Amino acid sequence: MNLRIPGPTPLPPDVLQALSRQMINHRGPEFASLIAEVTNQLKYFFQTENDLLILTGSGTGAMEASIVNTLSPGERVLAVSIGNFGDRFAEIATQFGLDVVKIGFPMGQAADPDEIARKLDADRDITTVLVTHNETSTGVTNDLEAISAVVKGRDKLLIVDGISSVGSVEVKTDAWGCDVVLSGSQKGWMAPPGLAFASLSKLAWERHANAKLPRMYWDFTAAKKYLEHGETPFTPAISVFYALQVSLQSLREEGRDEVFARHARIAKHARDRVSSLGLRLFADPKHASNTVTAFYTPEGVDSRVIAKELEEKYDTVVAVGQGAITATTMRFGHLGWVSEADIDVAADAVGKTIERLATIPAR
Ligand SMILES: *Cc1c(COP(=O)(O)O)cnc(C)c1O
Repeated sequence: MNLRIPGPTPLPPDVLQALSRQMINHRGPEFASLIAEVTNQLKYFFQTENDLLILTGSGTGAMEASIVNTLSPGERVLAVSIGNFGDRFAEIATQFGLDVVKIGFPMGQAADPDEIARKLDADRDITTVLVTHNETSTGVTNDLEAISAVVKGRDKLLIVDGISSVGSVEVKTDAWGCDVVLSGSQKGWMAPPGLAFASLSKLAWERHANAKLPRMYWDFTAAKKYLEHGETPFTPAISVFYALQVSLQSLREEGRDEVFARHARIAKHARDRVSSLGLRLFADPKHASNTVTAFYTPEGVDSRVIAKELEEKYDTVVAVGQGAITATTMRFGHLGWVSEADIDVAADAVGKTIERLATIPAR
């Protein structure tokens, strides 16, 4: 099967093999050396010297963890949203009783750092900014460096959902001053779902010390304390650690810059192939993502009809749109273990399917 969704992503053979290993004691020396190695490798790709915690849960769990560990009830946060995952971050903050100020931008566009600056200057009670680095629902990558400069220039806490970017796209956690950066094992890391990552700056720990939201499973103090002894507070997804150990070794061997360059090259290939089918790309070309490409379906053709035929006839699985653009857009994931040939298989299948379903009217 050609699985071309933006996570979970296909696993290389050596990673699959690692998943069949026998269980070990998660409070023993073998696990201690495993978590130490995986943590160090992740820090290299996060480009950080900050603490990095590995949590058992999905990416959304890490988003929730970042909120309950750094904020107090009623605290005012600015939630920057350019799509569904930005909305989700705002929703989590709202559910936990925070005073959420939302700043939205049209789907397909990136957030404007100047507008964020104006919002922060006009509302001095905002203590924290939530932002999505790579918006997986629209295939748009925000200019995180510019946004960080605005937020850190005003001494606010910056929490970044980098779930579909870190490890595939450059994120300079320390150089850009990102306080909390999140990712998830099933995206660019060539590992199964089950683990999520959070890096924490000195400021994030200071906020944590005074944060009053209730927390137990996600408590970062406990996670840090256990990590010092090579453990996690609760039973971790051990098999996903096995997989990550192997996938991180290959990514490390390939080299950080080479991994980022490969994602950029394949993303461009994906955009070129989609455009050459006569389909219109969804994202503003200046901010097109290197991990996911969204495009419009032909006029009047529902994405779900195309997706069904792709799966049944061509054994190719792509993602339909999300939210308001579910029916009118589709998405190719191209993060993790992916090559130009994989994109070609998916693009050829889409081409044949839309040719059968409809003739594309001139726009
Ligand atoms: C996938 C994704 C998430 C959610 O992760 P889950 O593991 O499904 O909870 C959050 N944000 C972004 C940007 C994502 O791509």
